[in-house]
Amino acid sequence: MKSITKELWVNTKKPREFINITGEVESLLNESGIQEGICLVNAMHITASVFINDDESGLHHDFDVWLEKLAPHEPVSSYRHNTGEINADAHLKRQIMGREVVVAITNGKLHFGLWEQIFYGEFDGQRKKRLLIKIIGE
Ligand code: ZN
Repeated sequence: MKSITKELWVNTKKPREFINITGEVESLLNESGIQEGICLVNAMHITASVFINDDESGLHHDFDVWLEKLAPHEPVSSYRHNTGEINADAHLKRQIMGREVVVAITNGKLHFGLWEQIFYGEFDGQRKKRLLIKIIGE
């Protein structure tokens, strides 16, 4: 069995941002030479997500509006977690959008459904954060 592991660093310009990381995952898969296996991608912070969906800007706007309705950033005093940091909403947004994704690898490719792409979702950005890619197989 082969395996390959990589940590990617992210530093978003905005507090909340979605970044398509499919190309980075595909590059690592190509580097690994793995033809059949499993790929795990996870955020390494509890205020960021990794998820799979469509790369469509209207949808990303809709996600942002929806998440802000579910867990609004303001008023920051409405959250018990906001004692030192003021990122309670980011923890909740991460929980909704998920920590990780797993993608099957078939014939050396990520075995996606139609329109599926992998995204890093940042909810408390403008600082250096990491995500992990691990691919195992043969
Ligand atoms: Zn926090």
